[in-house]
Amino acid sequence: MKYISTRGDQSPKHFCDILLEGLAPDGGLYLPAHYPKVDDASLSRWRSVYQNQGYAELAFEVLSLYIDDIPAADLKALCRKTYTLEVFGSPEIVPLRPLENGIWLEALSNGPTLAFKDMAMQLLGNLFEYELARRGEELNILGATSGDTGSAAEYAMRGKKGVRVFMTSPQGRMSPFQQAQMFSLMDDNIFNIAVDGVFDDCQDMVKAVSNDLDFKRRYKIGTVNSINWARLLAQVVYYFAGYFQATQKNTDKVSFTVPSGNFGNVCAGHVARMMGLPIARLVVATNENDVLDEFFKTGVYRVRGSADTHETSSPSMDISKASNFERFVFDLLGRDGARTKALFGDALARVGFFDLEAHPAFSRAASHYGFDSGKSSHADRLATIKDVYQTHGMMIDTHTADGVKVARAHVQAGVPMIVLETALPIKFAATIIEATGREPDRPPKFNGIEALPKRVVDMAADVQAIKSFITCHCS
Ligand SMILES: *Cc1c(COP(=O)(O)O)cnc(C)c1O
Repeated sequence: MKYISTRGDQSPKHFCDILLEGLAPDGGLYLPAHYPKVDDASLSRWRSVYQNQGYAELAFEVLSLYIDDIPAADLKALCRKTYTLEVFGSPEIVPLRPLENGIWLEALSNGPTLAFKDMAMQLLGNLFEYELARRGEELNILGATSGDTGSAAEYAMRGKKGVRVFMTSPQGRMSPFQQAQMFSLMDDNIFNIAVDGVFDDCQDMVKAVSNDLDFKRRYKIGTVNSINWARLLAQVVYYFAGYFQATQKNTDKVSFTVPSGNFGNVCAGHVARMMGLPIARLVVATNENDVLDEFFKTGVYRVRGSADTHETSSPSMDISKASNFERFVFDLLGRDGARTKALFGDALARVGFFDLEAHPAFSRAASHYGFDSGKSSHADRLATIKDVYQTHGMMIDTHTADGVKVARAHVQAGVPMIVLETALPIKFAATIIEATGREPDRPPKFNGIEALPKRVVDMAADVQAIKSFITCHCS
């Protein structure tokens, strides 16, 4: 499989070329040159692979269609090492459970950090270690997190050879549970940096370091952000696994509702649908930061300034722009790289929005690609968490609640609606207590983590300070 850029660069790359890279050189995002089609016979075979041999073998089937520069035996070993009962807590890895009236919850949050980001990040950790060893190289991952991404990255990279993680976070802004998860890691290759500032300050520091090309090259600086194609690819697998659990035969269809921020998770659903997975609707659920809902309702994609970005009780969806969205628009426009470049590289930079309402392709987002959308507010979240708890005795996290709220408005008779559960409630305990008056359950392995010793350095929001810190710790 060759990979191309959404902004038109066609110079062919293979999977491992783009694995350690961020954006394409022309500023676009990488996508496969085509989506391999899974016909009825293959879908039946995959159904039986998942049911009889398990998630890791299904992951290998999906990944091997997109990766031709890792020997099959090695790729299979990497999948088996990643998706284990020990790490994900159940033989199904992503078990499906019924909620109500045709709505199901697919559990993606039983990995090491209790958010769905583990599904992709755990694989990425193993792929990085493998590829760096093969090249005899090292990588220093520099990131900014408001919570879920940083912990998922650290738990995936801890103890991995050839990799260090430098993770900045805004001091005192993460939930106590999230802080404890990250700061209690004692691995030599993990560095937590609490920045005196807000998330944007952290991100600005990371950008400034990455823009210093000399420094970046000298210290082998890389990222693990959600535009990484390998992360997206890993997420395609659980759409298949959810489908196989919800259906008996390949003529059945399902829909998915996906709590969305950067459009990474739901973009993987789009890829699964393009491969031929029988998906009826892909419903994008946002919180008050409704950039995506606005697009699917009006055709206008308008990025927000930091002053217009709301701090909400589903913080992992608090985005000002959806960094993976360019991938879908590229497909929507018939893979016209020049047009995509004009919208994302030009219009957004110039005026901060583009409007596709009058473009003939826009109506195809719903009619041809199956997209639909909805949004949720803090009050909706509280009501949904409370109602699901009182009616079903089940606690759901704030992001998943955004999904359930939107899913309830989009169920169709006879089509199972699968809501992706993106985190466990213990990560966002304050809002759960506000909604239900009760403390959420805590998986036993996290008992008492708030009291563990912490390994974190405080730092001013200063680019020179973080550069010196990296320099000191890379030798
Ligand atoms: C990252 C995250 C999301 C948003 O996922 P995207 O891929 O950015 O759309 C939703 N919920 C939780 C809990 C997350 O951590």
